[in-house]
Amino acid sequence: MRLDSARWFLPLALAIAAIMLATMVLGYYSYEATKRLAARSEESIEKSNSLVGQKVIDRIEKVIIDSDRMLFRLVILDNPREFTELWKRIVAVSGVVEAVAVLDENRTLLHLVGNMPPSQMNAFRQTFITEMVPAMELGTLPLDAHRHLHRYFGSLLTLLSFIHLEHDGQRFYIVLSTNLQHIKDDIFREEFRGLEESRYLAVLDEDGPLVYGSPAPDRGSFVFEQRFPTTLYRWRLQIAPKDIGTIRREARARRTINTLLVGAAYGLIFIGMLTLLLAIRKERRANQLKSDFISNVTHELKTPLSLIRMFGELLTLGRPGTAQTAREYAEIITRESDRLSRLIDNVLDFARIERGMAAYEFKLGDLRTVVERSVDLVRHRAEQAGVQLDTRIEPELPEVPIDENAMTLLLHNLLENALKYGVTEKPRGSIHVSLAREDSRLVLRVSDDGPGIPRDELSRIFERFYRGRAARRTSIRGSGIGLSLVKHIAQAHGGEVQVDSELGRGTTFAVWIPLRSRTRGEDRRMT
Ligand code: ADP
Repeated sequence: MRLDSARWFLPLALAIAAIMLATMVLGYYSYEATKRLAARSEESIEKSNSLVGQKVIDRIEKVIIDSDRMLFRLVILDNPREFTELWKRIVAVSGVVEAVAVLDENRTLLHLVGNMPPSQMNAFRQTFITEMVPAMELGTLPLDAHRHLHRYFGSLLTLLSFIHLEHDGQRFYIVLSTNLQHIKDDIFREEFRGLEESRYLAVLDEDGPLVYGSPAPDRGSFVFEQRFPTTLYRWRLQIAPKDIGTIRREARARRTINTLLVGAAYGLIFIGMLTLLLAIRKERRANQLKSDFISNVTHELKTPLSLIRMFGELLTLGRPGTAQTAREYAEIITRESDRLSRLIDNVLDFARIERGMAAYEFKLGDLRTVVERSVDLVRHRAEQAGVQLDTRIEPELPEVPIDENAMTLLLHNLLENALKYGVTEKPRGSIHVSLAREDSRLVLRVSDDGPGIPRDELSRIFERFYRGRAARRTSIRGSGIGLSLVKHIAQAHGGEVQVDSELGRGTTFAVWIPLRSRTRGEDRRMT
């Protein structure tokens, strides 16, 4: 047996290990592939986001620089009066420039025109001369160079745009103070238009506060952030796709689904393997029971045969001295032949059922007659064993669709078991057989007051070839097919069988047979 187990266990264990390993490898690669795919799609989103960000920055810078250049071109230095008149109009209407200043080579202020009220203008002039001019470091500015200064002067954030020019052999510095409100209201709005639907766009000061727009609620790898490199360099642009959350959630969901799928595959394999192992165990148990059955049946056949043969020979040899002994020998031969033929009937019926060939012929019949006839058949043996056998049959029971031969076999098995097991320990025991109507069914009960059946065996006694522990221990003969036949026959009649047993008290088998056939017509064949 052990050798046998080793023969199937090793390949099975190897197969399980191989399948588990394959699933693990597959799971790992598919998990990695999803991760890579998610990373790649995140990467491409990140790339396109920074491309857009870079483009926006470049465009805004270009707009500011182009506008500065255009304004520088409007500076006419020939006539100071004309300059002042023209620039007064420009600063009043353009909205782009707040003030314009012209300084000579020695950084002496020649002109300053602004659109502020006079008191503010004076303050501005003061700050311009004392703070802004030194901060611009004009002395180091090469000719034609165009620079920007973006910083706070007091509480005033300023963007100064300045250039070093030569005119009529003289060098000048022209400084424009740009209106930052105009940049926010017009340039940013214009440049961000169309992007705000799909992206979070914001401009933040280097100290942190928000200058414009709405920043991304959750900062992560998708957020592109960069300073304006030459003009508004205190400020940085922040841009992020609005569906970051969805993209991340999807990637996370894909990874979770993948992990779950691998887990489920493991679960399925595990359940499959467990089922396989259980099936193998069941099969092995069935095989064991089958071989027990063969040896039981052989033994069952041999015992009556040897008795028949022995008493037959004694009769032939004329050994029994008296007619009385000869009759006793003949009775033994008849009894053992009966037992033999019943056993053969049982085995043949069982074999037909096993091959799926059991055919039932249902006819309306009187179950009372079947019960009475079957009880009569065992009455003699019961009397000899000193067992009291009583029958209680309710009067006027209706006829029911039954196969009489099958029902006889069913009763025979129940009565035989009651005699075999029920009275072994109590030679003066009793067997009760009853037949009654309960609602739409007839119920047949066979009870004994024998040793009973242990609780853990109750669920197994209807299995084919199963024999109880007590039956196997003692010399009570049997093949383990009687109750499986009883169950099959009861179910073929649309009924059922139940057992009720208490150790030391006895056992009752109850068989319910419906009054009406569950199929159309009275005759039915079961295969
Ligand atoms: P067999 O009698 O040939 O062993 P059965 O299928 O008829 O096979 O019965 C199965 C088992 O049920 C028996 O081996 C026995 O252990 C138990 N059994 C059946 N009837 C009784 C009974 N009346 N009292 C106690 N045990 C019983």
